[in-house]
Amino acid sequence: MQTLIKHSERFWYMTPVDLTDRPILGAVVGDTHTLLIDAGNSVSHASFFLEQMKKHGLRAPAMVALTHWHWDHIFGLPALEGIVSIASEATKQGMEKLMPYAWDDASLDERVAQGIEISFCAEAIREEYGDARDIQIVLPTLTFQEALTLDLGGVHVMLKHVGGDHAKDAVILYLVEEKILFLGDALYANLYAPTWRMTPEETLRLLDVLETFDAHQIVWSHGEMVSREAFAEDCLALRRIAAISSDFPGNEEEITRSYAVLVNREINEEERELITFFRNGTVGR
Ligand SMILES: [Zn+2]
Repeated sequence: MQTLIKHSERFWYMTPVDLTDRPILGAVVGDTHTLLIDAGNSVSHASFFLEQMKKHGLRAPAMVALTHWHWDHIFGLPALEGIVSIASEATKQGMEKLMPYAWDDASLDERVAQGIEISFCAEAIREEYGDARDIQIVLPTLTFQEALTLDLGGVHVMLKHVGGDHAKDAVILYLVEEKILFLGDALYANLYAPTWRMTPEETLRLLDVLETFDAHQIVWSHGEMVSREAFAEDCLALRRIAAISSDFPGNEEEITRSYAVLVNREINEEERELITFFRNGTVGR
């Protein structure tokens, strides 16, 4: 069950759905403008968010900012007609590539076979849409290269193009007065590869950028909002595994052993998964 959660007067967000890969959607409520964060994976996803906002008496959004080009963050745009959509130039280019595609089963299977699409997304698209796949790619209204700041009245939102393994066009958003960092999918693995992978270089570079923000709350689009303390732990695990995988490229056993020695305990499921991603990202070096 998806719920619209009020974090503060200024920031609301709707919980994600694993099965259909619906990410968290955010709403930043300023004195003069409301900004949506991401458009969702379908018209029904975006419409549900708008309905919930209305039900809670929130002002209708004037703008929507996109975190990256992946389907689950942009397919809801047709439901946001008349709302200014904002994306990095690289996100717009990624979206343009989707325009010629058909989304029926045969077309999806074909693209998965060609390695253009991945079965993880194809499955989630089938789950979200069933057989009625009226999917339209709506391009963003306004694009930027590196960074952009929005003044919504009493709250400023910084958009910054950070890239990373997951998506080269990834943008993060920082709600300055609220001290909330909206990560999107920026810190996740690269899924558009033969195996899901992360590289030490991109991960460490990205962590350096993310840690410059004085964020008190951090939002993982397919996870949850976490405290700065919890995020610091995630970052530390990522840094350590990234560093060790540079020392033992492609060697899962050795990465696991060294990491377990370093933390001096059994490694958990999340860490095990990260180790696999870094093994995949360093194999053959
Ligand atoms: Zn993504």
